[in-house]
Amino acid sequence: MSSSQLIGKVYLVGAGPGDAGLLTVRAKNLLEWADVVLYDALISPEILNLINPKAEKIHVGKRRGNHTLSQPEICRLLIELAQRHAVIVRLKGGDPFVFGRGGEECLALIEAGITVEVVPGITSGVAAPAYAHIPLTHRDFSSSVVFVTGHEAAGRYQPRVNWPALATAVDTIVIYMGLHHLGEIVPQLLAGGRSPQTPLAFIESGTTPQQRVVVTTLERAIATYDEAQIQTPALIVIGEVIHLRSQLGGSLHQA
Ligand code: SAH
Repeated sequence: MSSSQLIGKVYLVGAGPGDAGLLTVRAKNLLEWADVVLYDALISPEILNLINPKAEKIHVGKRRGNHTLSQPEICRLLIELAQRHAVIVRLKGGDPFVFGRGGEECLALIEAGITVEVVPGITSGVAAPAYAHIPLTHRDFSSSVVFVTGHEAAGRYQPRVNWPALATAVDTIVIYMGLHHLGEIVPQLLAGGRSPQTPLAFIESGTTPQQRVVVTTLERAIATYDEAQIQTPALIVIGEVIHLRSQLGGSLHQA
């Protein structure tokens, strides 16, 4: 296929964490202009309702263990669509470049000669703690925050995340996709010297009407996960800043 056959441009758009009010103006405009929208499993119905009614909507959603389309299939589809449509929106939860595989999709599209634009979104790791009244930094309690995946690429021989080193290197730890690996992560953070009493929060379905926040401690995290039956999507936040929740909860309001 020569690149001259490609008429379309692919917009890799961040949909934010759930609440439609957190969509960027750019994202909303693109949803209204789109000829075709490919979207993931975690996109809320309110956001899908904003899509141009004439646009073709394709659910390529991935949920753990239930891949509707593989990553190479999604890339192939985007390339195919770029031959027929002008405005192709690839809508991804949160921010496309934060654990969203946006980088991989972008590279594949550029390699195929397709023009790509990335529209950042509010990542769940920032939005969900805010809705849960947890400031990720605070001059007295946290000068650093890390966003880390609890689920590394399957088959990677040497894990890239050094949990024992992270344990005391940063004040606030925000873990994406961590639920199913909690049993490996918690002992490594404790072995790395993080205090067992450090507060830990699970934020389930952050920013949506189903948001649930469960606060425990690092040493009780695995037990709490079982007792409270935490469901995906959820973030795990670890750090002293969680103590501020009780003071902030009363004065912060979300629509
Ligand atoms: N690109 C996305 C992250 C994709 S990875 C972003 O920037 O937010 C998927 C993981 O993100 C989930 O396993 C969960 O850990 C987290 N996540 C996404 N949406 C969430 C939400 N509304 N509440 C809590 N966690 C969420």
